[in-house]
Formats: sequence, structure tokens, C-alpha cells
Amino acid sequence: MEKLVALCKRRGFIYPGSEIYGGLTGTWDYGPLGVELKKNIKDQWWKSMVQLREDVVGIDAAIMMNPKTWEKSGHVKAFADPLVECKLCHQRFRADKKDEINEHGKNNHPGLIVDWTDARQFNLLVKAYLGIIEDKQSEIYLRGEITQGAFVNFENVVSSTRVKIPFGIAQIGKAFRNEITPGNFTYRSREFEQMELEFFVKPEDGEGDKWFEYWKKERMDWYKSLGMNAGKLRFRKHEDTERAHYAKYAEDIEFDAPFGWSEFEGVHHRGDWDLSRHNLSYVEEGEKYTPWVIETSGGVDRSALFFLLNSYSEDGDRIILKLNPKLAPYKVAVFPLLANKPDLVSKAKEIYDNLKPQFMVAWDDRGNIGKRYFAQDEAGTPYCVTVDFQSLEDDTVTIRDRDTAKQERIKVDRIHKYLEEKLT
Ligand code: ATP
Repeated sequence: MEKLVALCKRRGFIYPGSEIYGGLTGTWDYGPLGVELKKNIKDQWWKSMVQLREDVVGIDAAIMMNPKTWEKSGHVKAFADPLVECKLCHQRFRADKKDEINEHGKNNHPGLIVDWTDARQFNLLVKAYLGIIEDKQSEIYLRGEITQGAFVNFENVVSSTRVKIPFGIAQIGKAFRNEITPGNFTYRSREFEQMELEFFVKPEDGEGDKWFEYWKKERMDWYKSLGMNAGKLRFRKHEDTERAHYAKYAEDIEFDAPFGWSEFEGVHHRGDWDLSRHNLSYVEEGEKYTPWVIETSGGVDRSALFFLLNSYSEDGDRIILKLNPKLAPYKVAVFPLLANKPDLVSKAKEIYDNLKPQFMVAWDDRGNIGKRYFAQDEAGTPYCVTVDFQSLEDDTVTIRDRDTAKQERIKVDRIHKYLEEKLT
């Protein structure tokens, strides 16, 4: 984990939020490589969940919502973690995090008996104040989950599109939570991004069960198709006592992280909780009913972290990020063999310029070729193209594969096709 955090900072994947002012706990900034990785995850998600489907449409709802939304959704009352407080130093912990509680006593107060308060509820919604005249400001919440945007727009979507039940509304966006104990790098942040599907079905047990199982499989298969190691993935069923206030049943997709098996996507059967709380219904052939909702709720930041952990590998002192090419920030890097030979540089530049409209391309002419390969391996770039003296004679280049370190010679006019084949 430490090695990955260091790599993320050094190479520009993830930096601590507002670091020059000492940071802000629970916030992270994505650098030039991180923003590409996250964008690629979101693009792949959107492609599989919206573009390739006929029964799902996308929306992008506002982060600030009428506060009634959060009363109706149950979040004002129930979106809370029970906390206990150490009576010696007043640090608070989630009551269900028994390991952290035990560790705290051992690490912070060795030799002392730690006394804890009873568990108290702590609401996770982040408050904000809206309005320009101070005494007329209204208190709102920054959304604690993107989910409610799909429900408040349920009627708009039904009346403005041709969707018919069963259908889904997909969305990607930021959410905010006053997490008590942010930590494990980006895993538990106070500002994070979610990618969610709310899928509406007929309120019948058979339908609910069928779609719940369907979406569980779809989501698990999606992570595997993008290179997540099946041995590091599992489902975990929520116990009756831990299920969220809205869920009929719920299962998490977990990753075997260095800090233990950890949830990064939940598949939830929300029943009619949401639509009935918002007083919404659906009419089908004259019959009015309240649909049930099957939800898939994934975290973009947690996925990004787990794709990075999953792809991190070492070969001697070489670090290789074996990211699936679809997720890699740069698809290809182009180098002139020597930076001080104008013929090589201009030919390499021409190739670079030709590839740029279609692919994210990196350019490097510093140091020797070996060092450049190492630098691209660390960034997860799957292919490197080198223009050498032979290139000037026969219009060929070498193309090197990140994972095998093998090189082949191909014609310059084959590069596009070569990459297209590998990336689709
Ligand atoms: P946890 O039990 O870890 O607090 P949760 O069950 O409250 O998570 P959900 O409300 O189901 O999480 O949110 C769906 C997804 O949103 C999670 O699977 C996760 O990927 C992401 N997510 C939730 N909270 C955070 C957070 N604080 N930081 C980063 N991602 C988060």
C-alpha cells in the first residue's frame, strides 16, 4: 500500500488535497495520470451501462437538492453511524470498527485502561449554506449519495423518453459524507464519486429476485472483463443488522485489499422504499403501481484504487502497472531514439501528431531508451513506439509491449490498426 501511495504521488495519479496548506482530511486531488484513469473507468462504465443497452438512460442531476429530498429519503434521520468516543483523548470511532477501537487503546494509551462512551448517532450529511444575504441563507445538504437524483427525476424521464419498465436510470457524480474516520488512502474520503444504476422493475418477488441476480452477475463480470483478478473479488451478503435503512437485501462486491476485504460496489434491492417515500408511481396499461428498485452503486475512487492495486507489480527494481489497456492513462508513448538527431525527432513528432487525435499519447525524449521504458511501465502505458535509424530508411518502428517487454517491428502506417486491435 505504501509503495502504491508513493507511486501515485510521484507519477501524478493522486495527490493529497490542497497539500500546500497542510491538506484537508478526507480529500484527494487526481493528477494528470489519475484523471485519465478515472475518466477511462467512467467511460467504460457508461459504455456498458448506457451506450450498449436499450433499457437504460443516463442523467446528470444537481449536487445541491431541495432539502426535502433528504427528509423523504430517510437520510436526515437514518444516514448515521453509531460512534463511540475515547474518554481519555475524545477521539471518535465507528462503533462497528472493533479492530480500530482495540488498536487505539494499544497504540495511543499503552498500559492504560481505555473507557469508551456509549454509542451515539452521528449524521453523515454535509451541510452547506445557500444564498447571498446572510440572514436569509438557507441550509441545504451536499448530496450524500447520487441515488436520489434518479428518483426525483423518475417522472421526468418516464414522460420525456420512451422507457418502459423494466428500465434503468444511470448516473455518475460526486457525493459527500462527513466520514468520521477517513483513511486507507482514497478508500474512505469525504468527497468521492459514485457510478450508479437505479433499475425499476415490477413489484413482484420473481422480478425483484431475477434482476437482483442479473445485476450482481453483470457488475462482477464487468470488473473481471477489465482485468481484475477473480481471486481477489468476492460477494458478501449484508447481515440483517447492517443493512441500510432502504434495503430489502444487499450484497457487496469486495476486493482483497492490503487492509482486508473491502467493499467497493453494492448491489441493493431497495424495494419500493424510495419511490413510495417520494410519492411516485408508474402507470402501465391503466394499472398504477409503485415499482421496485434494484440498484448497483459503485465508487469510482475505490474502483480506481483497486484497479491500481490489482495492476501493481514489480520485476527487480522495475515497477509495472499492468492496467488493462482500456483503462491505462496513456495508450502509447512515442520516442525518438536520440533527442539530438533532428531527423529522428521530426519523424517521431509526425507519428505522435498523427496518433494524438485518436489516442492519449505520451512523448518522451529524455535520458536513454531503457529509462523511458521504465517510466512508461510505471505509468501503465501498454505500448511504446521508438523511431530509430532504420525507421528513416524503411518507414518501420519498434513497438514494445509493456507486459512482455517484447518488441516487434511494424510499418508506420500499421501503428493505428495495431493499437485499435489491442484497445477494442
Ligand atoms: P462503507 O460501509 O464503506 O461506509 P457504504 O456501504 O456506506 O460504504 P454505499 O452507501 O453503499 O457505501 O455507497 C456505494 C459506494 O460508494 C460504495 O461501495 C463505495 O464504492 C462508494 N463510497 C461510499 N462511501 C465512500 C467514501 N467515504 N469514500 C469513497 N467511496 C465511497
